[in-house]
Amino acid sequence: MKLDTTKYIFITGGVCSSLGKGVTTASIGLLLKSMGYRVNIVKVDPYLNVDAGTMNPYQHGEVFVTFDGGETDLDLGTYERFLNQKMYKTSSITAGKVYKNVIEKERRGDYLGQTVQVIPHITNEIKENIKEATLLENEKVDILLVEIGGTVGDIESIPFIEAIRQFSLEIGRKNCLFIHVTLLPYLSSSSEIKTKPTQHSVAKLRELGIQPDIIVCRSEKDFSKEEIKKISLFTNVEERAVIKSLNLPTIYEVPLYYLEQELDKTICNLLNIQHITPDLSSLKKKIDTFKVIEDEITIAIVGKYVGFRDSYKSIHEALFHAGIENKVKVKILYVDSEKTSPDEIREIIDKVDGVLVPGGFGRRGIEGKILSAQISREKNIPFLGICLGMQIMAIEFARNVCDLNKANSLEFDPKTQHPVISMLDDQKRVITKGGTMRLGAQKIILKKNTIAFSIYTKEEVYERHRHRYEFNPEYIPIFEENGMVFSGFSENGLVEIIENSENAFMVGVQFHPEFQSSILDPNPIFNSFIKTITEII
Ligand code: GLN
Repeated sequence: MKLDTTKYIFITGGVCSSLGKGVTTASIGLLLKSMGYRVNIVKVDPYLNVDAGTMNPYQHGEVFVTFDGGETDLDLGTYERFLNQKMYKTSSITAGKVYKNVIEKERRGDYLGQTVQVIPHITNEIKENIKEATLLENEKVDILLVEIGGTVGDIESIPFIEAIRQFSLEIGRKNCLFIHVTLLPYLSSSSEIKTKPTQHSVAKLRELGIQPDIIVCRSEKDFSKEEIKKISLFTNVEERAVIKSLNLPTIYEVPLYYLEQELDKTICNLLNIQHITPDLSSLKKKIDTFKVIEDEITIAIVGKYVGFRDSYKSIHEALFHAGIENKVKVKILYVDSEKTSPDEIREIIDKVDGVLVPGGFGRRGIEGKILSAQISREKNIPFLGICLGMQIMAIEFARNVCDLNKANSLEFDPKTQHPVISMLDDQKRVITKGGTMRLGAQKIILKKNTIAFSIYTKEEVYERHRHRYEFNPEYIPIFEENGMVFSGFSENGLVEIIENSENAFMVGVQFHPEFQSSILDPNPIFNSFIKTITEII
């Protein structure tokens, strides 16, 4: 730790959702980290789910899994990818978790005699939870960024806004900073950028007792000094602290764009901490490489949640990272495994350079995924199966190579004659759904002279899990006789990686490599998948 006390930066959002508050937060985090400060980020979500694990990815986007097994909001993935640093469960606070803790304390008798209320009990719990994240890997951080989910003015977020207001009073206004991210809409009929929604949203924030120090203005169109002056005047924020945030070719350019506007200096100045010019040269190099890439490959993602891009966010990003590393643009073609006919699937897979079957739950769309694995195997099209995708690869191999008629997973056919994917006895005893899967990073032991070993070039790796079902070890011998290689196992003998020795790249992994990939450090599995494709085409 460089600073004597931890400083806090609170990021709120106004006007509407989907402004990219997560990217703004992560970019500011990166600027500060690149100055040598120890940084951590917390995401506060106002929903009543205890964690994101029970939410449908189709509504809320992917469930991101932390190293220590937290099922969290996808913004934590953005933080990890920008900072190239692990986030832990403590980085995710939900209203559900806060209320659950308070109610448990009440039942234990911790508040005996008191009337338990939103203020102070819920707000105190929020503050305690925020403080917990100042300890990162047993060491205090210099700066903690706290992103408040939702939009200022929402009923749900009021206790959180109130908590951070109290927080600033307790730690001293000079030790914290409020950043408000808003939208400047463009009206084409009058060719104007409008600042009024921003003025109103700041007024709302002030009503709740918070005066922002910095305003980040998201806009699809560039705007002039005049608009900046107007925003400054109406919101009482210095002009240098009104920051432009226009759409950029890649989100990874945002930190560089903020640097150009000297946001780093403004933050240091307002927090009264030493400014050291952030070194973003490695990031800049990656972006420069990306900008001159001409070759393009197409990967089909065959899944169920294909209508909403955020459902596979980390996979999207991991493919992008691996693409830059191998100097190709990766175009993603989403294939709805439920709605696409077998003939169409055949046609699509014939045209793409690689196939990826991602994770998922439930039987809908399973046969389409199995067919895509079959075509990839038969036509030697590079294939990567992730979690459910690995299970699909196993089912297809069992049915069509090992002649195990109607082989299946117990998840999709509880009466199948050949349960090549089954459930461990411990899991069978689990009835509740929240947080009960095999979760988080676990050690994987790799077998030498396999594709997996050549990918990781070491004997032990840690990757993150989120699943209930496992490859059934009874079927290992018959799979091996038919050419499947089992190249990675967990410490207690669970199958982690399978690879088809007949194919250039047909690999299935029971874990989620996409959760450990950043632009500076692409995940080896994705890297090798893309590399093989570039070598073939
Ligand atoms: N539904 C499968 C299981 O629970 C796969 C889970 C996943 O893909 N994350 O094992």
